[in-house]
Amino acid sequence: MLDVWWLLLACASPPRLPAGDSIVPLGDTGEPLPVHRGIEGWSDPSARQDPILVVGAGPAGLAVAAAAQEVLLLEASDRLGGRGALDGMMFWLAGTSGQAERGIVDSPEQAAEDWEAITGAPPTDQTLRFLDDGPWIHDEILALGIEWSSISEDPMSRVRRLHGMGTGRALSAFLEDALPDSVELRTGSRVSRVLVEDGAAVGVEVDGERILGRAVVIATGGFVGDQDLMDRLVRQEVAWDVAVDEGATGDALTWAREHGWGTAWLGAIGWFRRYVSTRYGPVELHDSGGVMPWIWVDVSGERFVDESDIETVTTGTPCLEHAPVWGLSPRQPMIEALRDEDDLDGAMERGEVLCDPDPAVVASSIGVDIAGLAVTLEAVDVARQAELADRFGRSPETFPDFDDELCAYQLGLVAQKNFGGLAVDASGRVLDKAGQPVPGLYAVGEAAGMAQPGLGGQAGFDGALSAILWSGWRVGESIRP
Ligand SMILES: Cc1cc2nc3c(=O)[nH]c(=O)nc-3n(C[C@H](O)[C@H](O)[C@H](O)COP(=O)(O)OP(=O)(O)OC[C@H]3O[C@@H](n4cnc5c(N)ncnc54)[C@H](O)[C@@H]3O)c2cc1C
Repeated sequence: MLDVWWLLLACASPPRLPAGDSIVPLGDTGEPLPVHRGIEGWSDPSARQDPILVVGAGPAGLAVAAAAQEVLLLEASDRLGGRGALDGMMFWLAGTSGQAERGIVDSPEQAAEDWEAITGAPPTDQTLRFLDDGPWIHDEILALGIEWSSISEDPMSRVRRLHGMGTGRALSAFLEDALPDSVELRTGSRVSRVLVEDGAAVGVEVDGERILGRAVVIATGGFVGDQDLMDRLVRQEVAWDVAVDEGATGDALTWAREHGWGTAWLGAIGWFRRYVSTRYGPVELHDSGGVMPWIWVDVSGERFVDESDIETVTTGTPCLEHAPVWGLSPRQPMIEALRDEDDLDGAMERGEVLCDPDPAVVASSIGVDIAGLAVTLEAVDVARQAELADRFGRSPETFPDFDDELCAYQLGLVAQKNFGGLAVDASGRVLDKAGQPVPGLYAVGEAAGMAQPGLGGQAGFDGALSAILWSGWRVGESIRP
């Protein structure tokens, strides 16, 4: 049974990502990515007296509320912050004063030139606006009281653009502090429907109660936690799991189906590694002090990347291109990564991890080339002992000593965020399937593919919270009464 499972996984063929110029927007119905259409069909929001209704109090919804001011903020859960209720989060920004202070030479123009290498797609008009506003977004984030503890390399461009918050206080706490008194908060209020009359959004429904608003802003986050939807969108040959955190239930897409709103780039998913992904569910791996005591190989038994350098695989397409990928670790570091010996025994019983003193047995069980793996293990040993970086630049001290029983697991991916969603124009107005704005309706943040579907191409980019906040602040400002 165990062998059959490993063999099945090993035989899965690698997925193919579209090449740069052949990337097409993906929508529920394959509709083209909508273009900006001017303001026909839009009724002036200030003409109505009801509050602006913001649905969802994650980073995007909190940003809209702070900027729009006269807001009723409706949140399904009993707390604010969505998936941004964490500290230590990272923001992708280019050309900032924070970079300049650290001697990092960068600019929005340079970022625009690098964009295709980062996301797999050339920048859209909306991307260029986002990049141009980067220094402004940066200063607005600092104005919240956030300080950078680090600015680290964007893995694809190799420029230090990932601005990392210090730890100790969640992003959502800073955003909540910025809310004016004119914002009314209601937690425990899941919006079940958006009310549409004569084609225009006029309010929402919560627990059977109809609440009217002068505008409705959808900030419900992404859909990567919706297994059914993900099953339809994601290539099955890659081992993956849906997000294990709360939220990301894709309510915005349910409403889009109900009302005929446009969607685009739904297949553009940001992935996270770190888990052993199996049919039994994800198992978290803990790295010990930043050192990752494992290597990754593909079916040829060869390594293809500096494993210690890839935190997320949002842009780390090597892991997708080389799938199925196997993580290999000596037994003891594997135990530490899983926490303790019982965890390893359990993972082995469930078929998630395979350990054997003979690397050839491991290789044949997982369907990896035996000779290729032997060469790889030898090369790792040489690099480690000679204290030389290997050809991918991995530091020798981060390599494990494979002079121990060898354990293997299939590297899994966790769908972390989506770069597609409701079709919106440059002002965040939701578009119908014909590309016309739906009066009174906006979408921001992940519900709108971070700020607009296609902004991050097919591969996306790490630190998209900068685009999320940007979309929230910009839309909030534009609809402020
Ligand atoms: C562990 C972890 C670490 C991360 N680290 C980073 C990072 O460092 N950098 C980065 O850029 N991104 C990171 N992300 C991703 C980032 O957190 C999300 O992309 C971001 O939170 C999305 O913001 P949002 O406001 O659009 O949606 P969300 O944060 O998902 O918030 C949506 C909110 O809407 C509410 N909601 C949903 N449906 C309804 C409804 N029907 N009615 C009312 N309310 C509703 C939800 O309860 C939720 O509070 C991380 C995610 C996780 C899980």
